[in-house]
Amino acid sequence: MNDGDDETHDSLEARLRSEGDRTEALIGDLRHELASIAESTAAGPDDEHDAEGSTVAYERARVQALLAHAERTAAEIAAAVERVSLAPSGALVCERCGSVIPAERLVALPTTRICVACASDVHRNDGRP
Ligand SMILES: [Zn+2]
Repeated sequence: MNDGDDETHDSLEARLRSEGDRTEALIGDLRHELASIAESTAAGPDDEHDAEGSTVAYERARVQALLAHAERTAAEIAAAVERVSLAPSGALVCERCGSVIPAERLVALPTTRICVACASDVHRNDGRP
């Protein structure tokens, strides 16, 4: 009905989707990195007391943590895309005060359900809404 709203809808959804694509690419890279770490440990000596061995273990733990984080982010973005596509006005509104949550905030924090002002309110109240 309203061209302005449609535009907002498309750009927000598109931005979230492109953020999702970037995260998927990152997940691919991290999986690849993890696989090559596994290969290097399979090929080399597996000695826990070896300095290089502990570096590999550390590196593997680091990449696994990054991968878990990226997978969580991808799931959050997918959920945000769904919420945006279901939103009647094409924009997500704050659950506390009803004002529109800016696209920038949603792209940075896909799981957010409240606006910046309310978020800082919540923060002041020790995390309690
Ligand atoms: Zn609010």
